[in-house]
Amino acid sequence: FPARAPATVRWCFADQLGSHFLDAPDQPVLLIEARSVLARRRFHRQKAHLVLSALRHRAAELGDQASFWQVGTYGEALDRVREPVSVCAPTTWGSRDLVLARPGVEVLAARGFVTTQEEFAGWAEGRGRRRLLMEDFYRDARRRQDVLMDGAEPVGGRWNLDEDNREPPPSDGRLPVPEPWWPEEDEIDEQVRADLDRWEADGEVSFVGDDGPRLFPVTRQEALRRLRDFLDTRLGAFGPHEDAMLAGDRWMAHSLLSPVLNLGLLHPLEVVHQAEGRYRDSVADAHPLPLNSVEGFVRQVMGWRDYIWHTYWWLGRDFRDANALAAHEPVPDWLADLDDTAVDAACLADVLGDLRRDGWVHHIPRLMVLGNYALQRGIDPAAMTDWFHRSFVDGYDWVMVANVVGMSQHADGGLLATKPYAAGGAYIDRMSDYCGGCRYDPRKRLGEDACPYTAGYWAFLDRTREQLAGNQRMRRPLQGLDRLEDLPAVVDQEVRRGTDPP
Ligand code: SF4
Repeated sequence: FPARAPATVRWCFADQLGSHFLDAPDQPVLLIEARSVLARRRFHRQKAHLVLSALRHRAAELGDQASFWQVGTYGEALDRVREPVSVCAPTTWGSRDLVLARPGVEVLAARGFVTTQEEFAGWAEGRGRRRLLMEDFYRDARRRQDVLMDGAEPVGGRWNLDEDNREPPPSDGRLPVPEPWWPEEDEIDEQVRADLDRWEADGEVSFVGDDGPRLFPVTRQEALRRLRDFLDTRLGAFGPHEDAMLAGDRWMAHSLLSPVLNLGLLHPLEVVHQAEGRYRDSVADAHPLPLNSVEGFVRQVMGWRDYIWHTYWWLGRDFRDANALAAHEPVPDWLADLDDTAVDAACLADVLGDLRRDGWVHHIPRLMVLGNYALQRGIDPAAMTDWFHRSFVDGYDWVMVANVVGMSQHADGGLLATKPYAAGGAYIDRMSDYCGGCRYDPRKRLGEDACPYTAGYWAFLDRTREQLAGNQRMRRPLQGLDRLEDLPAVVDQEVRRGTDPP
């Protein structure tokens, strides 16, 4: 796709809201609020609110520069537009099909990521048949963008300081960082809320999750405020405990920037440059921010996020249907409904409750509590991808396919991750403060108080033993299976438990 088409009306989707999606600051803009998108899936209420609010705020901000259509389908609006239209390549296979099928719409190269698709293709093809490891991609991008580099070497001499970022949670149950900054709702939010209530009452749409005060930015100004708040108060503390979970501190030192980045309100490179600027200033002031925090954050934004985007396209549209571990269970109703009240397991109940209330939990509860549960119980990976997409305020198809199918459910047979992210209760106990208040015991795999994660872990290994046999990193866990005298009883217990709320 070409890079620019300035003499056209620029159609911006609701996740293309920053000025970097325009070729000139005064370019005419087309914005379409198509209600059919909401009717297609049962989204989290706060996600629907966030997207609509962001789109309407952008329309209000652009004023006469934008023509804003509130219609049933995209086609209804496009049929009425007479000027030549261009659009930056949208973010999903479905929406790309839509724009390519539309006569008179010029499709441009995608924007909003650090590495272009051409650069990724060059990198991936240059690797031949070798695996496309995120770490290699990330180092290449750091070099190319000259981020956290001292000449040809990474600042501090190491590319990846992840080893320093695996500390368990602090014993007093909170990180020493202030509460994040929160946006204030305005009359546009009020209107969005009224519309969503009305459409739901009319049966046009249905939602999961609670309505609630809007927690995430919807304008460029709010997005910059959230970024500044993170850089001022949380960046230094981000790293060490980024993999830990605390029942009483769900935000910890996380940036809460993923919804903003995924709406296109900030460009990832400006976020990375600001974080690096803070680091270099702090070094010059002789009070250096911890490099493991800064590097860990930079890796999330320009490494992992970009990598997930590029693999979404590179691995093709069939990637979503990969199911190497033959997992076919449906998503149980209590999980689909985010019904934490049905669940006794303290970790899962707490995470599900946070998700119901906020539409967001950080990456470890997603991977090691929610994803781990689905992996162990053999829930269909495509159904879980859809569930993650709908239930999270930052969830989009491009985000979730590689994250869920590849990373969390190991459904690609190990293309993206070298081993399944399956773990028993001991891991959750080490990395959280959940187990002390739980009716289950993380050390038990059999009996009334057997931890569903511990027992589920062994039952999972038993079920997938054949598929995982060739994986060197799974050799020891699989050998461990053979030493369990009570394995048949554990497997029997877990088959009976199935996907009933644990
Ligand atoms: Fe979760 Fe098991 Fe710990 Fe309970 S004992 S909180 S179910 S890991």
